Amino acid sequence: MSIAENIRIFKENIPENVRLVAVSKTKPVEDIREAYETGHRDFGENKAQELSEKYPLLPADIRWHFIGHLQTNKVKYIAPFVHLIHAVDSLKLLKEINKQALKHNRTIACLLQFHIASESTKFGMNMEEARQLLESDEFGNMKSIEIHGVMGMATLTDDMEQVGNEFRQLRLYFEQLKKEYFPADPAFCELSMGMSHDYQTAIEEGATIIRIGTAIFGARNYAFA
Ligand SMILES: *Cc1c(COP(=O)(O)O)cnc(C)c1O
Repeated sequence: MSIAENIRIFKENIPENVRLVAVSKTKPVEDIREAYETGHRDFGENKAQELSEKYPLLPADIRWHFIGHLQTNKVKYIAPFVHLIHAVDSLKLLKEINKQALKHNRTIACLLQFHIASESTKFGMNMEEARQLLESDEFGNMKSIEIHGVMGMATLTDDMEQVGNEFRQLRLYFEQLKKEYFPADPAFCELSMGMSHDYQTAIEEGATIIRIGTAIFGARNYAFA
């Protein structure tokens, strides 16, 4: 099936309150344009350099989601235009995002990434680290970032019960942070979880954003990326 067809089917089948981010990493701009022509505007990339190369070649009203691990020294490449940074996992990174946002006279929306998978290779914080970040004076003084919620990746497994438990844990973190730190802040509302193989489980557990690559654009060929 075509990219346009895949996008259309996804949108027909997910609840209206769930936002679809089409993950276009490693894919050519022609593929992104095909998705764009359907009216789709939310796209996700996980490499700052790749994103900054694609950005000027594509329409300016695309909402670019940065979904990968972001190195501090790469923030400057995406700060002028990025719509939402999904994977903030340290105060140091948040400080740099705040600095670059200020430089470009804008506010950058961010999600805090939590480690919910059993694999130790995936990035993300635990609750204690998130609390330390949110309670720090430095965070309190940041004026150019806005925390919109949390993001996480479940273990890569066919055991959907385990995946469901991990997403449920992420939702509990979200609700706890909401209650303790953002009770009167309507902007803190996003739960970014679910990929091609586990988005249905993620939606059942309350996802507001799903990040879909393969199921829209087909398999990635990293050899040519
Ligand atoms: C690549 C990627 C996705 C999309 O994965 P698919 O399995 O291709 O849907 C989602 N989230 C993150 C963080 C990714 O790096």
